[in-house]
Amino acid sequence: MSKLALATPNAAAATADLFERSFERVAAAARHAKIDPETLLRLSMPKRTVEVSIPLRMDDGTLRLFRGYRVQYDDSRGPFKGGIRFHPQVDAAEVKSLALWMALKCAVVDIPFGGGKGGVEVDPHQLSHAELERLSRAYVRAVADVLGQDRDVPAPDVYTNARTMAWMADEYATIVRRLEPGVITGKPVGRGGSVGRDDATGRGGYYVLKELEALRSWQPGRTTVAVQGFGNAGQHIARLLHADGYRVVAVSDSRTAVWQQAGLDVPQVIAHKEAHRRLPVPQGAKTITNDELLQLDVDVLVPAALEDQLTAANAPGVRAKVVIELANGPTTGAADPILHDKGALVVPDVLANAGGVTVSWFEWLQNRAGSQWTTEEVHERLRACMRTQFHAVHARMTELGAPMRTAAYALALERLDRALCAGGTAADFQRR
Ligand code: GLU
Repeated sequence: MSKLALATPNAAAATADLFERSFERVAAAARHAKIDPETLLRLSMPKRTVEVSIPLRMDDGTLRLFRGYRVQYDDSRGPFKGGIRFHPQVDAAEVKSLALWMALKCAVVDIPFGGGKGGVEVDPHQLSHAELERLSRAYVRAVADVLGQDRDVPAPDVYTNARTMAWMADEYATIVRRLEPGVITGKPVGRGGSVGRDDATGRGGYYVLKELEALRSWQPGRTTVAVQGFGNAGQHIARLLHADGYRVVAVSDSRTAVWQQAGLDVPQVIAHKEAHRRLPVPQGAKTITNDELLQLDVDVLVPAALEDQLTAANAPGVRAKVVIELANGPTTGAADPILHDKGALVVPDVLANAGGVTVSWFEWLQNRAGSQWTTEEVHERLRACMRTQFHAVHARMTELGAPMRTAAYALALERLDRALCAGGTAADFQRR
């Protein structure tokens, strides 16, 4: 069996400077945006950071203390919005970067939300179901003061899901003594959730890929895909592409990566993963390392796990022509120019994985209106949004001759600029 399939991106040394590295890239893109310098200044710090301790009574009677965060980056375009991550490598720098990316992401898809993110430093696989419920509820009690459907609206992220959101929404309702479903999105359908939210992140990436398919005249049967990470985002894009006839030749989870040149039977891989919590190695497939997966000779590479996976060390070996960033921050700033120089198109996270937050917005709209949309409505509106914004970013990229990330950031910064500078800038106040 191959080595651990994922790198450990958040090993203290790697994330200590994650936020600085993230902001530097935004500042670099700002040179291509028509914005007031005050916008970048305002965006250089989160509006509020909440760090909490969460004492948890374990099933065996012992007490453990967990560290939790909620970072509210910017709310100039609408309430703070962003997921809550349960992961052992969560730390302040990571949550801050993820919150900044949410602010950019909501602007890229032009939905009326700002950016936020939350997390708990915990390995959820070591907790029982009951312990996880207590932790989720305790997290909400710790940060409830800053949440609200018009203030800050969390959602699922890595290792949290619809059930986690159900616990959290329920705890919030208990605290405020009324139902307020719009305070959290990604809830189970039937409990205020929207149809189509579950696979929305993968589906948004899939819609982006369909636009590229048309632009590049791809034939699905002849187009190969490798997916790193087999959580919510990775599984759904693999499923949708496989159903279209694409050859998904490799997938990985946090333990292993499997590769089958003829193409994997994705529904069977998903069923096995669900039943056994690990990937199967089907007949004719073999296990490979994480770096081997990232460097496979495929047309499309989909990093769908964690940040800092494509680095200066492995980017020179990447052979994919297109990278669809379903994870947040999978490509480092040092890897970006290497991939660009090789002619690889990197569709950045703030666009490629924005389907999730877009359907979160649909859910919030339904909650506010007391209405329920059909699956077709959700899919149609998501597709229209992804298509429009993909082409807006693509056109900007062509005009700039820069990486697609630069174009997406520039567009987002201009939209943020309109909100942040609505009250005037130095130029207005200095005018006589
Ligand atoms: N956690 C997802 C993301 O990173 C979804 C956030 C949301 O729906 O608010 O985009």
